[in-house]
Amino acid sequence: AYAQLAELDKKHFMHPTTSFKQQHEQGPKFIFTEGKGIYLKDIRGNTVIDGLSSLWNVNIGHGREELGKAAMEQMKKLAFSSTFATNSHERVIELAEKVANMTPGDLNMTFFTSGGSEANDTAFKTVRYYWQLKGQTQKKKIITRKKSYHGVSMGASSATGLPAFRTFPSLAPDFLYVESSIEALEALIQQEGAETIAAFVSEPVQGSGGVNPPPEGYFKKVRALCDQHDILFIADEVITGFGRTGATFGMEHYDAVPDILVIAKGITSGYAPLGGMVISEKLKNELIDLSDGVYMHGYTYSGHPMCCAVALENLRIIEEENLIENVRKMGAEFQKGFQWLADRHDVIGDTRGIGLLGAVEIMKDPETKTRFDEPVSVKVIEEALKHGLLGRSIIYEGQDTLAFAPPFCINKEEVATIISIIDQSLTTVLKRDC
Ligand code: PLP
Repeated sequence: AYAQLAELDKKHFMHPTTSFKQQHEQGPKFIFTEGKGIYLKDIRGNTVIDGLSSLWNVNIGHGREELGKAAMEQMKKLAFSSTFATNSHERVIELAEKVANMTPGDLNMTFFTSGGSEANDTAFKTVRYYWQLKGQTQKKKIITRKKSYHGVSMGASSATGLPAFRTFPSLAPDFLYVESSIEALEALIQQEGAETIAAFVSEPVQGSGGVNPPPEGYFKKVRALCDQHDILFIADEVITGFGRTGATFGMEHYDAVPDILVIAKGITSGYAPLGGMVISEKLKNELIDLSDGVYMHGYTYSGHPMCCAVALENLRIIEEENLIENVRKMGAEFQKGFQWLADRHDVIGDTRGIGLLGAVEIMKDPETKTRFDEPVSVKVIEEALKHGLLGRSIIYEGQDTLAFAPPFCINKEEVATIISIIDQSLTTVLKRDC
């Protein structure tokens, strides 16, 4: 069955984020068929630990039939209806209220999308629209951090601070990339002029850029700078939202409430495609006061009833099973495990993380920050797969990082298994190849 499907995959399925050549020559490594908890099973009978919750999104874990049931019940009753203009439906209203109750500060009103890229584009269009309504048409630049990841739509890839994602010509204009220090941000605002800057966007902890927590006190100062210069603050909580860091939202760790909070992934744990932009009560009221025409922005699937029903069930499970509490407890074990690895392996130059989001940085000589000639993390991830662990290696910008973000339902033994597989795999690769 594998061989036949692999041939068809090579022939007809254009994969996201892949090398055309590699796909053409090798075909799919895994054809997954089922999942349960932290485990995935493929068509050749291999079981692996889903150490990254697939794409940092299957937060409650695989195989929760309640979500399938919620989807089916909604689809039987009302599979689709429009939310444009004055149309609404029960599930989208319930979900918007639920999100308002979960988000910090006065973040109270949600615009729904099908994923994180669309949600970021929505935020970027909305901040520029807002300044236009206020008559400040020159306020359109958006500052984003180097090593950030915000998605791949035209706007979101333009906002992404990893140059690897900006190799497409003619991306969107007016995005500026800044180093992750408050001084660099201040200098850039001075240089460009605050009167030209619409917004600043950042993940609380950068995910795809290598699991990078912010510098000490960073977001409190960002919030103050934004207030001082009339710049809107967008937090991209696509990975960190709904519990990943041990708080409901990542920004809660850093005592800063953004004007706009962007969500996706964990809102449905990946069981259905859904994202959104949550705006503050203040911004909402200003938009009501300022606008005279129509906000000409909306996706066919803005607030899809089935996706909203799945999100509601997912959030119910996270709450009822105290899964964020488990993220805090297991996150402590997980980060302790990384520390243990760093103590055992001289090549681990840095460990980073929060909650069930973690990374180790590999260096030939951490003292002098010298790198191996070829990234070791790629080989460690390959080796770990042989022992049944799926993780990610991140090699952008000269990094050599192993990243993991397992599902919230993980237990202590499973955390220990992950750490032990990383330990074995790193030992094997260092002995064999370095
Ligand atoms: N923002 C962040 C922080 C992400 O990690 C991602 C996806 O990995 C996105 C945005 C894009 O979301 P999507 O792939 O759903 O468009």
